[in-house]
Amino acid sequence: MTRNAFSHVTHWVFDLDHTLYPPENALFSQIEKKMTDYVMKNLNLTEPQANQMRVQYWQQYGTTLAGLMREHDIDPVPFLDSVHDIDFSVLSPNPELCEAIHALPGRKLIYTNGTKPYANCVLGHLGLGDTFDAIYGVEHAGYSPKPERIAYERVFEQAKVNPVQAAMFEDSDVNLLVPHALGVKTVLVHSASPKPSDHIHFQTSDLTTFLRQIV
Ligand SMILES: [Mg+2]
Repeated sequence: MTRNAFSHVTHWVFDLDHTLYPPENALFSQIEKKMTDYVMKNLNLTEPQANQMRVQYWQQYGTTLAGLMREHDIDPVPFLDSVHDIDFSVLSPNPELCEAIHALPGRKLIYTNGTKPYANCVLGHLGLGDTFDAIYGVEHAGYSPKPERIAYERVFEQAKVNPVQAAMFEDSDVNLLVPHALGVKTVLVHSASPKPSDHIHFQTSDLTTFLRQIV
């Protein structure tokens, strides 16, 4: 049944963080700390103020960066360089996931709200460095983040993704709203509180096992 639901898919689009590795991993907490530090220094805020702003913009705009650009005209390039300067050794290779993605028929893509260089670091440490045909980051979307519609439109156009022939794997529920509306087959991964939603076709807590059911 799962296999039939994906038999039309030619493009497999994967989010990166908390989709290809579990949210319990200590990678993203490092980025959050770096973001708070960057906001403190650049906007002259205390740590609690900066931390609150980081969370508020993430909730309001999809990413902290999107809020900082909109509200404070922050330059995205040094911000992204700074927050991605972290210790990637907390990630370890996942050969089972590598094999499961390789087995999918068609093009395999990364689409992250991080950057392509950052994605390359993460994929390298997960042992997935040669697994994907192309990587798209927030820079390819003109720094508009998922879940904004324009972001998907820009990336899908560059990647030559026809949404009705694509599947997308994401840990973020809201990041699947636009893909679903465009006709993408949506899979919610690693969801903390699984709840039925109209825009989620499938949910799984184990991406590797799910992918093995497809092929
Ligand atoms: Mg994610």
